[in-house]
Amino acid sequence: MQTILKTQQAELSNFIGGKKMSSQTERWQEVISPIDGKLLASVPMSTRADLELAVAAAKSALPTWSKMPIKERVQVFFRYKKLLEDNMQSLTALICSENGKTEDEARAEIEKSIELTEFACAMPQLVAGEVLEVSRGVECRTERYPVGIVGCIVPFNFPAMVPNWTIPNALVLGNVMIMKPSEKVPLTLMRLAELLQEAGLPDGVLNLVQGDRDIVEAICQHPAIEAVSFVGSTKAAKNVYRQSTAHLKRCLALGGAKNHLIVLPDAHPEMTASNIVASMSGCAGQRCMAASAMISVGQTDHIIELVCAEARKIVAGDNLGAVISAESQKRIEKYITDAEKQGASILVDGRKTVVKGKEGGFYVGPTVIDYVKPDMAIAQEEIFGPVIAIIRTQDMDEALAIENANPYGNAAAVFTQNGGWARYIMERAESGMIGVNIGVPVPREPFSFGGWNESRFGTGDITGKSSIEFWTKLKKITTKWNPTSRTGWMS
Ligand code: NAD
Repeated sequence: MQTILKTQQAELSNFIGGKKMSSQTERWQEVISPIDGKLLASVPMSTRADLELAVAAAKSALPTWSKMPIKERVQVFFRYKKLLEDNMQSLTALICSENGKTEDEARAEIEKSIELTEFACAMPQLVAGEVLEVSRGVECRTERYPVGIVGCIVPFNFPAMVPNWTIPNALVLGNVMIMKPSEKVPLTLMRLAELLQEAGLPDGVLNLVQGDRDIVEAICQHPAIEAVSFVGSTKAAKNVYRQSTAHLKRCLALGGAKNHLIVLPDAHPEMTASNIVASMSGCAGQRCMAASAMISVGQTDHIIELVCAEARKIVAGDNLGAVISAESQKRIEKYITDAEKQGASILVDGRKTVVKGKEGGFYVGPTVIDYVKPDMAIAQEEIFGPVIAIIRTQDMDEALAIENANPYGNAAAVFTQNGGWARYIMERAESGMIGVNIGVPVPREPFSFGGWNESRFGTGDITGKSSIEFWTKLKKITTKWNPTSRTGWMS
């Protein structure tokens, strides 16, 4: 999408110190609804001067917020959870219009955001320190402290859920935040910031700075920002991880994915087929947990037939949403065409999908491609569309070799009714999240979310208990009040 001079459409602003503030930029970008191609707003590509304003607001909010007892900070999030529930319908509509999801998918994002907030509300139970008398009269204790000003960069595919991976946990733990919304879907996050303000979040604790790569790099380089979390493509994750760590910040950068579902001949046919199709087509395939390749082991023709039948039941514009842009639609269709040219067989073809009454929208129908070879681009690269590539193999080791040769490591799944075979795959698949007879193995709270290999740079996971390490610094305190005890370290 071209960067443009600002249009007459709704001009978005930044959200700094609790106020909507116009950017000082000359660069603007269009926000287009994927459903019908209509212009929704224009978003500023903020400058370093805008970032300075956000840093100043965050700096002034930090002392009070970080010193507030956690039990008080949590109260804001109890109220936020209620506001998410009360505003479910309008938030759902906003996500649908700027992201192109179906209503059910958009609602699920808010439901998941509520679950993430509930987890953060339980944080006081999880972060109590430890204390032990380590030698006579000498006591060691641990206390957790916020990191300080943190930067978060988020992608387009979950306008509410991914921001809520970090906002509740990081803020409850006493940090203040500068978040960079996706320039493709900036509207939902602005509404979430308003709801947090309504819930009583003090000004400056959460700041939004709109923009693109330039402002992301400014965040990674800013000396006052102590930690950066990122969710997006692997290419951008590498850039963010390199820049943030070069500027001596802690960084957790989640990248792209290529998720394989390994299907064994004994798999339950109907359950397997419906899981595969739901996984590859949900959110129009624009999920980092989406199934992208089905690795068939041995004879699974009867399951492949059911996969095609299930895929044909999906109707774009009804139970299948749009992909984010015309560019994305073109890219996905090219992958399908190239695979066809290379000899793969298109069993269900989603190219040239048009939704009646929404001819300006960006749709790709569900696509099933058989006889894909492991060296084809469609087998190796992230497609981010409702497409499943079927790769045929003879045995589990051949299937595992293909799964493990791909550089990503977000999710993998195995479909079988044999516990031993499931265990064999589960132990050997090089992925952070594994499903057994589950096509989208997203761990629900309190379990943490995060991949391996090129799907995640940095240590630990972004949600759940694992995130506590990232959002806090651990202080170790050793005390002695008994004047007669010895002074030696081991006394
Ligand atoms: P993207 O990488 O294009 O953009 C993500 C964010 O980074 C945006 O805010 C964008 O402005 C910024 N950005 C873009 N290019 C950049 C660069 N070179 N350097 C620094 N910042 C940059 O990703 P997207 O298209 O918005 O989202 C889709 C991608 O996100 C997919 O690859 C998907 O797998 C991934 N994703 C991963 C997870 C996960 O948990 N691993 C979750 C959601 C999405």
